[in-house]
Amino acid sequence: MRYHTHIATSIAAGAGVAIQTDVAFTFPYVVGIAIGSLLPDIDEPNSYVGRRSFGLAKVIKSIFGHRGITHSLLVCGLIFYLYQLYSYEWLFGIACGYIFHVIGDFFSKRGVPLFWPIVRKKIKSPLTYETGKPSEQLIFYIAIGLIIYFLYKYSLYSQLF
Ligand SMILES: [Zn+2]
Repeated sequence: MRYHTHIATSIAAGAGVAIQTDVAFTFPYVVGIAIGSLLPDIDEPNSYVGRRSFGLAKVIKSIFGHRGITHSLLVCGLIFYLYQLYSYEWLFGIACGYIFHVIGDFFSKRGVPLFWPIVRKKIKSPLTYETGKPSEQLIFYIAIGLIIYFLYKYSLYSQLF
């Protein structure tokens, strides 16, 4: 999934969380989601975040490989744990965005090593899309449509500022 699709699907999912729970759809929460939805690809020097990582992406990739440790439930859990320690709204956003990214990649053809390091094999959904192909474009537009729908139908925009 390319970075804009990760941001769009994650914000759409984050809006869904805000509608279903008492989480407020605030600006720090949404910005956190956008940042969190990009972070797992810090293991790929050519990704949006990797190109801005001052070489960190190269190091992580050489140790763990692309879609290794950063795409595991272990790291998702660690970030949620951080949120338990420091309950900032933006940190909750980052944790949500992070896990939405991993879920997004779970639906891609290449899959993700969800249970790293216990099971290193990449696991994927039975129903997948191909990165950069029309199926991903479609997902992007559906996500944008959902965000607009949620914003107006549930007046989420009123919580933003
Ligand atoms: Zn990824």
